[in-house]
Amino acid sequence: LTHMHYDHVGTFDTFAEAQFHLQDDEMAYATGRYMRHAHLNHPYEVDEVTGMVRLVYERRVTFHRGEAELAPGITVHRVGGHADGLQCVRVSTRRGWVVLASDVSHYYEHFEQRRLFATMFNLGDALEGYDTLEQLADSRRHIVPGHDPLVMERYPPASPELEGIVARLD
Ligand SMILES: [Zn+2]
Repeated sequence: LTHMHYDHVGTFDTFAEAQFHLQDDEMAYATGRYMRHAHLNHPYEVDEVTGMVRLVYERRVTFHRGEAELAPGITVHRVGGHADGLQCVRVSTRRGWVVLASDVSHYYEHFEQRRLFATMFNLGDALEGYDTLEQLADSRRHIVPGHDPLVMERYPPASPELEGIVARLD
C-alpha cells in the first residue's frame, strides 16, 4: 500500500492471503492527532484504517521506515508530502527502473512542472518527492503517475480485453 487513502486501500479485505507493506509514518499519521482535521482526514475511511489496524494484530502488515526491498528488483521509498507516510515503488523491468509514483505525482504535470495537488500534508516533502522520483527512475519516461489518464494512452494494454483497464509498464 503506498498509503491508506480510500482510493488506494479500499479493497484490501478482498485479498485474504495478502501481506501488506506500509510505512511506519502512514499508520502513525492515519491514526494520530492530524486525523482530527477534516482537511486531512477526508481521504481516509475510518473503517478501512481500523481494518488495517486489525491486520497489524494478525501480523499481516510489514512496516518499513524509509527504503526497503520487498523482493529482488522491487523496493519501496518513503516520500511523505500528500500523506505523511506516502511511499512510491521502484521496479526493475526490461526497459530499466520504473517508478510507480502513486500519489507522489497524481498527474505527469505535477512532477514535470513542480505543481502541487490540493490535498497535502507537507508541501516541502511533496516538492522533495519529485526529486526522489527522478533520482529513482532511469528517466522521466520511467515515472508512472498515480492518476493520470495519459498512462493508458502512453502504454499498451496488458491484453486486448484489458484495453483501458490495465497497461503494461515494462
Ligand atoms: Zn492519496
